[in-house]
Amino acid sequence: MDVLIIGAGPTGLTAATALASKGIICRVVERKSEPSELSRAVGIMPVTIDALKSLGVADAFLAEAMPLRKMHVLRDEKTLVYLDNSGNEYRDRVPLGLPQNRTEGILRDALMDKGVQVEYDLSVTKISTSADKAEAHFSDNTSGEFDWVIAADGIQSTVREQLQIGYPGIDLPGKWSIADVDIVGDFDSEEITLDLYGRDCQFTLILPIEKYRARIASSTEDALGNMRLPLNIGSVRRTGTFQISIRQAETYRKNRVLLAGDAAHCHSPVGGKGMNLGMADAIAAAMSIVYGNVGQYSYTRRKVGASVVKKTEIARYLISSENPLAKSLFWFSAKCISSIPPLHRAFMKQWTSV
Ligand SMILES: Cc1cc2nc3c(=O)[nH]c(=O)nc-3n(C[C@H](O)[C@H](O)[C@H](O)COP(=O)(O)OP(=O)(O)OC[C@H]3O[C@@H](n4cnc5c(N)ncnc54)[C@H](O)[C@@H]3O)c2cc1C
Repeated sequence: MDVLIIGAGPTGLTAATALASKGIICRVVERKSEPSELSRAVGIMPVTIDALKSLGVADAFLAEAMPLRKMHVLRDEKTLVYLDNSGNEYRDRVPLGLPQNRTEGILRDALMDKGVQVEYDLSVTKISTSADKAEAHFSDNTSGEFDWVIAADGIQSTVREQLQIGYPGIDLPGKWSIADVDIVGDFDSEEITLDLYGRDCQFTLILPIEKYRARIASSTEDALGNMRLPLNIGSVRRTGTFQISIRQAETYRKNRVLLAGDAAHCHSPVGGKGMNLGMADAIAAAMSIVYGNVGQYSYTRRKVGASVVKKTEIARYLISSENPLAKSLFWFSAKCISSIPPLHRAFMKQWTSV
């Protein structure tokens, strides 16, 4: 069977790994000339680790990633909630901190072992599909016919556009920002810290990604300039701003082409689910090809995607809304989760699944 994967982000690499685990060696093409050293996603959920275990590639993730067992929520630098999962059943079922470039690196290494090598500097320029095949044209003026194509070509997906699949939704005004920094001195690499501040309800999030390295994310355009928490920053590795879109493709399939990952959905990074959702799409797409039940793919994955987009949007609204009622609801829920064990467990279950 000839399968083409377009895009070597986390979604495309996971799809190729899933196919390789079933003995299907596919082509993976990537527009960039080399692997990116930059990271967007920094959180891997336990369900994703479970899925990677089934593909035989979880050990390297578990060896390298930071378990994020504690969550400290502050309001104007004063503790509002402190959740510690070190001593409960979630101790080893917490999100893991790992830069996205390392997630991609681990998957690429696993693929190399199976004989799959990403073809960099090669993009798909044109695609067409009928009931029994898909044809792709590449930037080096070659073309090929494939039984199946998995389009994991990200939020600006060329494939989605060429196949005229709608991507309705909204683009939020304003920009958020990130900074990846090295920390000097005391640092709890198991703790996520969220500081909510000001009347206009901004926030800063500190998320460990290595023992002495953290991602700082902010609802403002200047993550470092608006840092109010005492964090001894050594060097700044990168900074960046980004805009949030909330969109979902009208269908995840057209004939022989399946959309997966950001090509199929996007939402705010609150909760850290986007990449995890894409990796789950990737495995579902690959397995539906392997087991011949592609007919179910769009319906089932769109349903899961719609639910994640909706929950993420509720969480983003509660965290960043200026509405006093939403604020009160957020604080009340946070207090209940930290003081009522069944609610703490329900929250962990919700948060760590995709
Ligand atoms: C600031 C920020 C923080 C985030 N944090 C988290 C987090 O903590 N946890 C989480 O789960 N998610 C997070 N996300 C979301 C996550 O980064 C994305 O969901 C994830 O990168 C999507 O992966 P993907 O492989 O679908 O797409 P991408 O990573 O965008 O990969 C698509 C690839 O396709 C290639 N490509 C595009 N067009 C073509 C073409 N025509 N031919 C060949 N190749 C092509 C691109 O070069 C690219 O490499 C975050 C996002 C942002 C912006």
